[in-house]
Amino acid sequence: MRQAFRASLLHCLADPGEASAPSAVEYFEDGVLVVENGAVLEAGEAEALIPELGDTRVTEYPGKLIVPGFIDCHVHFPQLDIIASYGEQLLDWLSRYAFPAEARFSDLGYAQEIAGVFLDELLKNGTTTALVFGTVHAHSADAILEAAESRGMRLIAGKVLMDINCPEELQDTPESAYTDSKALIERWHGKGRLGYAITPRFAITSSEEQLAAAGRLASEYPDVWVHTHLAENKAEVEEIASQYPHSRSYLDVYDQFGLLRERSVFAHCLHMNDEDRQCMAKKGGAAAFCPTSNLFLGSGLFDLRSMLAANIPVGLGTDVGGGTSLSLLRTASEAYKVLHLQGQALPAMRALYLTTLGAAKALCLDDKIGNFTTGKEADFIVLDPAGSSLSERRTKLASSIDESFFAMTMLGDDRNVAATYVAGKLAQSSLAHSSLAQSGLAESK
Ligand SMILES: [Zn+2]
Repeated sequence: MRQAFRASLLHCLADPGEASAPSAVEYFEDGVLVVENGAVLEAGEAEALIPELGDTRVTEYPGKLIVPGFIDCHVHFPQLDIIASYGEQLLDWLSRYAFPAEARFSDLGYAQEIAGVFLDELLKNGTTTALVFGTVHAHSADAILEAAESRGMRLIAGKVLMDINCPEELQDTPESAYTDSKALIERWHGKGRLGYAITPRFAITSSEEQLAAAGRLASEYPDVWVHTHLAENKAEVEEIASQYPHSRSYLDVYDQFGLLRERSVFAHCLHMNDEDRQCMAKKGGAAAFCPTSNLFLGSGLFDLRSMLAANIPVGLGTDVGGGTSLSLLRTASEAYKVLHLQGQALPAMRALYLTTLGAAKALCLDDKIGNFTTGKEADFIVLDPAGSSLSERRTKLASSIDESFFAMTMLGDDRNVAATYVAGKLAQSSLAHSSLAQSGLAESK
């Protein structure tokens, strides 16, 4: 089954860097993306490709911009309904908002309902892949992975491990953490487009026995992900120092238990030194930069330049519910400001990279998703520069794709995502069917 999509096309071939190297980005003002059996066959200029398409159906999106589907490197689906909860920093915020919300997930039906709502919100925001925290309940991982499977999404998730320093109703044990996670790995990891992540919440809420059990699993299943939080908040870092007085640093705690390796993804990484960064780079860990959460919870400023200089892969994460938006456009806008405060730059094309190919690299998925090279899975979104009246006004004045995309990241949100495709199939569209038909864009079913 071959189909083609015509619009402006933009994707990254490499990291454009702070200086925005033009060779790292490919842009076709009048472009065509050719998709066959859910994978990218070709991306290029319409003028060259259209004559070769024969009777292939072409869906046209005039005035719109097709980019790869966004990738969210860190988010909590059970915290959807506590987004925008007032007034606390991390440790108090967890007790006051996150733990009570997560306790409701003991009910499987509720977990399934929220999983569906959450993934539909991701798709509306143009996010086609995410690395997702569940709750301590094993069925929370089943719920989110089943919902992703039914939508055809590439998604990685895991049940949370926590056996100390949290409400009793949310505690597992080192043994149940191990056996439940193992069963979930066997059930889900590598099934279709799904992956599993061993998910200790953070070192504060796991006993040494539990971290050791998690490390054992991580070595038994080297192609499974490890997903946790690291050095988010200063009070948290101090707590770790007193809980683990013999560890060199917070990162060192995870390292000691075998949880720092390739496919380990650490959310936040705010309060780290050079030794930590070198250690993380050497062992293959990656970082999720979650600017809306870091600002909202008053946690600190992510040092992107130092992380990338140390060769640590970085992708953006929304971290909802600590984060304040599921939109990676809005997240990129906050990332720009966080970096600006530190004298660092985030040009538009690097923002695109951190939400697509760079994020795919951070998740070790860049052989499958992240751009439009031949053979990649055809997850893509149709961005509408006219998603809001102000965005329409500003992008019309832009004289380059850099300027236009930058304005869209500063002003944009789900209103700028006209359609989301998962493996070549339309998964979500804000374009009214009648307006599609009027402009001759209706997709034949
Ligand atoms: Zn988080």
